[in-house]
Amino acid sequence: MKTIRSPLTAEEIRRFLDATIGSDQPCPRCDTRQWIYPQEDENGQMLGLSITDASGNISGVYTTIVLHCANCGFVSPHAKSVVVNWLNENPSG
Ligand SMILES: [Zn+2]
Repeated sequence: MKTIRSPLTAEEIRRFLDATIGSDQPCPRCDTRQWIYPQEDENGQMLGLSITDASGNISGVYTTIVLHCANCGFVSPHAKSVVVNWLNENPSG
């Protein structure tokens, strides 16, 4: 199996969204359809959500791909593992 390279590109994220929920979904807050796509840097760094234990200490990071609305700033996070698994199962070309 061809394994997706890192970093992910905005185009790969758009391809995943087109095949799942549609990349032209309206923003649930303001109804515009202008989403800003993240792009990983050369080290594969992308926004993550912290996982904390019962004491509030950070115990891990849940890596996410976060799109945001260009108009109102609403953020839409997607689990990176789901996106990467889909891209691995659906290579382009
Ligand atoms: Zn919006």
